[in-house]
Amino acid sequence: MTHDFDLVIIGGGILGTSLSFFLSYLNKTKKIVTIEQEHKVAFHTSGRNTGKVHAPYLYDPEKKKMFAKAAYHGYDMIKKYSQLKNLPFKEDGVLEVSLNKKSTKILEKYLRWGKQNGLKEDEIELLTSSQLKKIEPEIKCDTCLQVHKDASTDYSKFTNSLMIDSRNNGMKFLLNTKVTDIKKKDGKWKIILNNEHEIFSNFVINVAGGESIDIAHKMEVGQNLTDVHFRGEYWKAPKEYFNLTKKSVYSVPDFPDYPFLDPHWIIRVDGTCEIGPNAVPVFSPYGYKASENLKEFVPKLLEMINSGARKAVFDKQFQKLAINEIQSSMSKSAMIERVTRFLPKIDADKITNKGTAGIRSSVINDKGKFVSDMIIEDDSMSLHILNYNSPGATGALPFSVHIINRLHERGFFRREKDDCDCGPWKFSDLIEKIST
Ligand SMILES: Cc1cc2nc3c(=O)[nH]c(=O)nc-3n(C[C@H](O)[C@H](O)[C@H](O)COP(=O)(O)OP(=O)(O)OC[C@H]3O[C@@H](n4cnc5c(N)ncnc54)[C@H](O)[C@@H]3O)c2cc1C
Repeated sequence: MTHDFDLVIIGGGILGTSLSFFLSYLNKTKKIVTIEQEHKVAFHTSGRNTGKVHAPYLYDPEKKKMFAKAAYHGYDMIKKYSQLKNLPFKEDGVLEVSLNKKSTKILEKYLRWGKQNGLKEDEIELLTSSQLKKIEPEIKCDTCLQVHKDASTDYSKFTNSLMIDSRNNGMKFLLNTKVTDIKKKDGKWKIILNNEHEIFSNFVINVAGGESIDIAHKMEVGQNLTDVHFRGEYWKAPKEYFNLTKKSVYSVPDFPDYPFLDPHWIIRVDGTCEIGPNAVPVFSPYGYKASENLKEFVPKLLEMINSGARKAVFDKQFQKLAINEIQSSMSKSAMIERVTRFLPKIDADKITNKGTAGIRSSVINDKGKFVSDMIIEDDSMSLHILNYNSPGATGALPFSVHIINRLHERGFFRREKDDCDCGPWKFSDLIEKIST
């Protein structure tokens, strides 16, 4: 194997794989590799999410500008690529319901945000509860935001297809390979793989999802930041509930500044239905099971005590919400009750199978505040994407274009052809879109 690279991408989630996809068209001379610790891409969060291609109505156009913009363009890009590759993509829309007057005010704000973020008049609308009853008789609410431009997909299949294209264009993926250490040596990065091999790279892009903060810290970046992991659990609904509603249903979260959304009623792209996710605090980005959380409990606790996370976790409101989430993990009915508030027909006793949990890692700054937008940290030898949470899967393609263009503008990885075709797109057209 080559030991010297121009660029190493750490992480084969949807973001790392999207970067590799575009670079596979744009670059034919530089030696680039994507390193993924698991046996396949999208094994963690990218393949363990709600599978929604989100319209950008939930995102504050100021505070979550990058997420909103990436989601707006991501929708059309996912649609186009899925049609080209015959991948699952269903434009099934979504409903966001309010259960009281206070949440209705928030829905009115979401309507404004959606339009500010680019949604058209006929793509998003407010419905009264009686208007909604005519189309969705089972849903109980005060008011409802109906968003037509929202879709469902399977992000595992989607990411795998990007990897296949990327490999066919000559790009390398090292699967089953974990970056176990990384440090600077003689003006390059010396990267240790699986605790035994070493490779070198001039530049590193860190898109390691739940481990991205740990890798950034090893590379002496983002030392003022830390993260807290939350496991989002799902329950599978039985067949008799598959036609309960036509659209997936979300409800307005009571505390939107905290990373706790209320569980949704989800219609997946294959027509099956699930309830979830909650957001249970755990001690590892891979804390699906108690054994992994026990192993990471002491180191994570020490890290939290010595960082801004200390303030966040001692915050009374945070503790109250976290306890609520832990209860909804321990008791199936406590979780399902959160959905029966707007879908009273659901009977918790009929729901017996768990779905696949996914873990979200939320970044906390040194003031103890959860950071709302994604974070880009870069210097002359590395670029790190931190806090890349929902709707990160929706926005991964346009966001990758943004990152590659940023590197290009700073003189790294100069594109070989400006109007290069990247799958169904011209790169120059994509740049124009994301910069407006
Ligand atoms: C419960 C839940 C529901 C969500 N629902 C949606 C949704 O419906 N729509 C949407 O758009 N977004 C959703 N999201 C957000 C979305 O899934 C993420 O933003 C996105 O998947 C992040 O992609 P990523 O590539 O950055 O991270 P990841 O998918 O986590 O990929 C990072 C990869 O890096 C690898 N890695 C880490 N450390 C190392 C190392 N040391 N060496 C080698 N490899 C390493 C990991 O194995 C992993 O495969 C959801 C998230 C959660 C948690």
